[in-house]
Amino acid sequence: MTLATNLGFPRIGRQRELKKALEQYWTAKISGEQLLETARQLRRTHWQLQREAGLDIVPCNDFSLYDHVLDTAVMVGAIPQRFADIPDELERYFAMARGGKSYNGRPGPLALEMTKWFDTNYHYLVPELTSDQTFRLSSTKPVDEFLEAQRLGYAARPVLVGPVTFLRLSKAKGSSFDPLQLLPRLLPVYEQILARLATAGATWVQMDEPILVTDTDETLLSCVDQAYNRLAAISGLKLLLTTYFGTVGEALPRLLQLPVAGIHLDLVRGPEQLATALRYVRPDFTLSLGLVDGRNVWRTDLTAALELARSAAARNPITVAPSCSLLHVPIDVSEETGIPSQVREWLAFARQKLEEVSLIARCLREGTPAYAQSLAENQAILERRRRSPLTNNPAVRARLAAVTPDMLRRQRPYSQRRPLQQARLQLPPFPTTTIGSFPQTEEVRKARAAFKAGKLSASDYEAFLKQQIAEAIRWQESIGIDVLVHGEFERNDMVEYFGEQLEGFVISSNGWVQSYGSRCVKPPIIYGDVARRGPMTVEWFRYAQSLTSKPVKGMLTGPVTILQWSFVRDDQPRKDTCWQIALAIRDEVIDLERAGAAIIQIDEPALREGLPLRKADWPEYLRWAVEAFRLASSGVRDDTQIHTHMCYSEFNDIIAAIADLDADVISIETSRSHMELLRAFTDFKYPNEIGPGVYDIHSPRIPQQAEMEGLLSKALAVLSASQLWVNPDCGLKTRRWEEVKPALQAMVNAARSLRSRLATTN
Ligand code: GLN
Ligand code: ZN
Repeated sequence: MTLATNLGFPRIGRQRELKKALEQYWTAKISGEQLLETARQLRRTHWQLQREAGLDIVPCNDFSLYDHVLDTAVMVGAIPQRFADIPDELERYFAMARGGKSYNGRPGPLALEMTKWFDTNYHYLVPELTSDQTFRLSSTKPVDEFLEAQRLGYAARPVLVGPVTFLRLSKAKGSSFDPLQLLPRLLPVYEQILARLATAGATWVQMDEPILVTDTDETLLSCVDQAYNRLAAISGLKLLLTTYFGTVGEALPRLLQLPVAGIHLDLVRGPEQLATALRYVRPDFTLSLGLVDGRNVWRTDLTAALELARSAAARNPITVAPSCSLLHVPIDVSEETGIPSQVREWLAFARQKLEEVSLIARCLREGTPAYAQSLAENQAILERRRRSPLTNNPAVRARLAAVTPDMLRRQRPYSQRRPLQQARLQLPPFPTTTIGSFPQTEEVRKARAAFKAGKLSASDYEAFLKQQIAEAIRWQESIGIDVLVHGEFERNDMVEYFGEQLEGFVISSNGWVQSYGSRCVKPPIIYGDVARRGPMTVEWFRYAQSLTSKPVKGMLTGPVTILQWSFVRDDQPRKDTCWQIALAIRDEVIDLERAGAAIIQIDEPALREGLPLRKADWPEYLRWAVEAFRLASSGVRDDTQIHTHMCYSEFNDIIAAIADLDADVISIETSRSHMELLRAFTDFKYPNEIGPGVYDIHSPRIPQQAEMEGLLSKALAVLSASQLWVNPDCGLKTRRWEEVKPALQAMVNAARSLRSRLATTN
């Protein structure tokens, strides 16, 4: 009997109800009980939606108030000491997620670190484990949510983060050791929770082990053996070893020997895994086929999926599923009436994906004739997409095919560009600048909302933005910043702003995806060949530059970041889409130069997160990603200075690629992790100019001049004075002017102090 299943559903709600409830709870506008009630309602609504979409089994414990890895840490009692004396359970949980409240002037405990969940844009909280860590079952959330589903009449399959993935994602604290060593101590807790689930009536449990699609080694694989030999022995329960986000590679035959009852394979990213599985699998083993892409928004080719599934269904019990949890896609495309219907019919969000899963399962169960019409409709849609002129712009294709190697490099090497730029810019040593955005105040957001709602005319909105720019320019001049920015007041988001203006993109009105906790993003959808309709930023630049004789930076988002933070078409290689974006940005760069920009910044904060999960795939990605940046940035004269910006400092393993970008100046995040910077730059001589962020813009704290001077002195230990720029860590849009003004004044003073020291030593 082939069943339709799901690995996880988005938690935030159609109208971002969870986000709103969390924010109200954090600001004491609703009680904890009210928050939990919203959560219950969301679970109920989502189970109902999944049943209506045709699922036979729904997931449970896939819900989380903040993050499922944090839930797992709490479940196994891995609560760092600094949170231990917060008595209220909910308050302790959010303290781990976001930092604790301060008591009588004593600062609250720092939150757990946050990092990206595999290669997604979702962030999890990193559990902290000590070498003498003990574990104990400290929460019954999985059982509670299973019973909740049961009471509502659902056959639910609990989801747990598997013990090996949990430990591998955790961080060793106190001393350095491999958290995997803690496995023997952790397994008894998993045994307890599984036994309780069995008692409560669960038949299957989904054990998520996505770590298996990364570069695994013998240590990790033997931990998997150890864990599942033990956990599979719990009577009455069937375990589904669940892998996703890629292929398990050579480990597959070995995993099929485990005494678990089934395995889930991501057949979207690794369809070839099925043939291998069928060669090694025993006949009673359940294969969960991940046939519907959980990472993207396109309709599935149901006929092709069915064909793949049939080969398995003839031999083994199977279930049909999305490739991974649907956490990474929005909920429902049917309400997106703002997206032109020709494009909308190509799209599937969570609800539509589950309808596809269910249709595949029914076809396998009952044969295709009963569903011939649905399958034919699906083929017709795919055919319309393939043939659509909307996806195919011959001019763009011709241009992409005609890219020549000289378009990927500046005319002269950096060493020869440098004197030309110096002569043009006349900057002092340790030039000061900011990363681009200034505070997006209430006033700015209100004006934008009014404009979008048609309550503020285009000319009034423009006048308002110009006034903001003028004030920002005047103020930057008054405190003595060397390279100015216009402030990005016109931008809601650094990717959406460009997505709204480029051909080949659509922006959904409600296509939110959880990024972390209550934070959601709305990725643009790239459906067709990308082309620039006309200048996107030039008028704002021109206006800002007209107000000052100091250089104003032209400010753009880079092609890799636009790609990485969008849903990308799946009918051509990502590289091609990225290079099309690069060509559009290249034209904008050239237009900015023509409009008088002597400095143009092209932000690439997402370059690192595009790295594939397996190291063997890194060189290919880095090659086309670096070249995309160079394609975007190399159309300018040599005396025009190209900047880039990245929001991190973990460069150790990609520093050569960073240098390969050949940006004249790069600004990076470093104030929270100065040691990282030192490590990356001691071994590798970075050739061009660099601005290591001297203050943390993620905190409302106002830094002192002396601190920033201290950080700059540290940087001077590994970088030369002629390379060094002075700037904050990132854009200032989340800060308030009351914080920004004193902080930047102190930063300018720090640079001046360094200059006078340099003058006396020379
Ligand atoms: N220029 C952007 C800003 O200042 C950069 C933001 C980012 O790197 N995330 O807001
Ligand atoms: Zn940044």
